[in-house]
Amino acid sequence: MAGMGRRRIAFFVPHMGCGRRCVYCDQNVITSDAGGHVTPEAVAEVASAQTSPVEFCFFGGSFARIGTPRMRAFMDAVRNAPKGSAVTFSSYPGDFDGDAGLDVIRVLKDYPIATIELGIPTLDPVVLKTCRRDDDPEAVARAVARIRDNGFHLGVQMMIGLPGQSTASVTRDARTLASMVPAHESWHFRLYPCLVLRGTELEGMYRRGEYEPLSLEDGIMAGGAVIFEAERLGFTVIRVGLLESESLKKSVVAGPYHPAFGELAMSEKRALSLSSENPGGPWRIERQALSQLTGHGGRGLRRLAEMSDISEREARARLVC
Ligand code: SF4
Repeated sequence: MAGMGRRRIAFFVPHMGCGRRCVYCDQNVITSDAGGHVTPEAVAEVASAQTSPVEFCFFGGSFARIGTPRMRAFMDAVRNAPKGSAVTFSSYPGDFDGDAGLDVIRVLKDYPIATIELGIPTLDPVVLKTCRRDDDPEAVARAVARIRDNGFHLGVQMMIGLPGQSTASVTRDARTLASMVPAHESWHFRLYPCLVLRGTELEGMYRRGEYEPLSLEDGIMAGGAVIFEAERLGFTVIRVGLLESESLKKSVVAGPYHPAFGELAMSEKRALSLSSENPGGPWRIERQALSQLTGHGGRGLRRLAEMSDISEREARARLVC
């Protein structure tokens, strides 16, 4: 029941349910919420005011880790919304592992769940440990399989530029996850660049010289390469880059930050897909997608020209709209 054309309403629940803090994370900054708490009562009020089905999204924390009574309270609140409404939330893969994970699954089966989005920044055990994530690749795989086998639609949230991570390892992880997708489904895919945010443990690592973030250009190239691969593998890419906000802008100390990071990564992906479909051109492109090549100072066109070893002028001449 993912998607179905419903309007989405996002509730940000920063760090709700999170145990240890992952080294790069500050959801208060990422969700521009200074710690305001969303309550089931507030959700019920919003739900009652709706006139058509809505997808209620709980992001910014580990929803399945807040305890099943509280999960039920939030999801019961959604029952006040018109029929056809559903819930999407982000969570930690480990929340679905072991006996406690089975309890969570049992609770979820009582509610209309649109998508369970799992934070799977990486499947590399060393990178997971460095980032203070408390799950390991085997636990992630067990959780993914359990969610899938219980018929839920999944979304994966991956990252690039983590300490010790490479683009090759991200695409390898995406392939591993893609091998678990049921044939009739397309899982959602979000990709976030790792940024050094003020006050996080990663800032300390960066200042001590223990972590070198991606440059903006490297981040865009890695982002483009990963979403190119993710789409090829059958994922539906629904977001690239963090939501732009004043609080995010003020908190970034280093890393591949740009307010239009997603668009820039899409320009890289478009150049990659055109050049791999037909090295050297000509390239057929829909008129509405042309801005992916010509926008942001013609970055996509420049990359297409570089990949094809021709001038930008020649690359433009080989575009067919
Ligand atoms: S990345 Fe996810 S699990 Fe880790 S601290 Fe942030 S919200 Fe919590």
